[in-house]
Amino acid sequence: MTEMMKAAVFEKIGVIKVKEVPLPEINENEVLIKVKLTGICGTDWSIYNGWYSADKLPMIPGHEFSGEIAKLGKNVKGFEIGNRVTADINMSCGTCFYCLRGEKLLCDQFTQLGIHTDGTFAEYVKAPAGQVHVLPDNLSFEAGAFIEPVSCVIHAAKALDAKLGSSIAIIGDGLGTLHARMAVLRGLAPVIVFGHNRKRLEIAKNMGADYVFHTDDVADPVAEVMKLTGGRGADYAIEAAGKVETYEQAFAMLRRGGTLSSFGITGEDDEMTIRPFELVLGEKKITGSCAGVGQDWPDAMTLISRGRIDPKPLFSMKVPLEDLEWALHELRSNRNLFKIFVSPEITEREEL
Ligand SMILES: [Zn+2]
Ligand SMILES: [Zn+2]
Repeated sequence: MTEMMKAAVFEKIGVIKVKEVPLPEINENEVLIKVKLTGICGTDWSIYNGWYSADKLPMIPGHEFSGEIAKLGKNVKGFEIGNRVTADINMSCGTCFYCLRGEKLLCDQFTQLGIHTDGTFAEYVKAPAGQVHVLPDNLSFEAGAFIEPVSCVIHAAKALDAKLGSSIAIIGDGLGTLHARMAVLRGLAPVIVFGHNRKRLEIAKNMGADYVFHTDDVADPVAEVMKLTGGRGADYAIEAAGKVETYEQAFAMLRRGGTLSSFGITGEDDEMTIRPFELVLGEKKITGSCAGVGQDWPDAMTLISRGRIDPKPLFSMKVPLEDLEWALHELRSNRNLFKIFVSPEITEREEL
């Protein structure tokens, strides 16, 4: 008899059903993980609305997760049943032009667990053992389910490779709060953050941002950055809001020779305007970063377990699997909520 589990299946655009589905079957190189918590991400909202992965429905999303190993494939070494874990969600073919150059995120057959394949809004998920990371003992399951977003911020910070003592402007107060923390850790100053939620800006401030601005309070964010950087513009800017308008602003915030880090995800066909003149005579640069991968994951675990990053102020609540759809809508309407975790093990909502 097929073993069954409970899962939140996104059946078609705008329809989620919590129901019994077959337990994932693992091959000899995979592990089965009993899911403890899954953080709800903007990507889940995009899948729910058919803006992303619509061709994959019906599927079980969920990719920011922690759990315990429940079963080991025959060839799997170095893990034990019960290990507290998370897993790198980025899958690649290993043999294409990009994979051979170590550029896994650009793989011709790039897929992400819970975004393109069944994920963790379920009691169990399977993952290749090579992607699984054991959580340090002092990491909670909440923090474990938050490694993925932190790894993305780490990946962007490595791509930007900012120099000590440089100035940085960050647009966005979602993961922008973590970018601010990362900028502080890298010795950047001043760290200037723009956002549209006072509670989140307060968190950014507590994470070490020197200046935080609510966009309602500043007529011209670019002028504000000029004022704080001797009229030159910032050495670096990060766009973490995902809008064309703010990409153009972030680029305009740069001094000559400055670098823009592209982090916020815009619509696939959105276009921004750049004067090539600023790239040539102004020597401005642009970097991109798509996800946290490989070493970014252990780095994220180290920075949290050693107290360099405290993600706890960003954790809002825990809800049962059955409340996933409610939570997706709630996150849209109540901007004071940040991270909501879904648990297949609880029956009541819990504040964190
Ligand atoms: Zn995510
Ligand atoms: Zn590949």
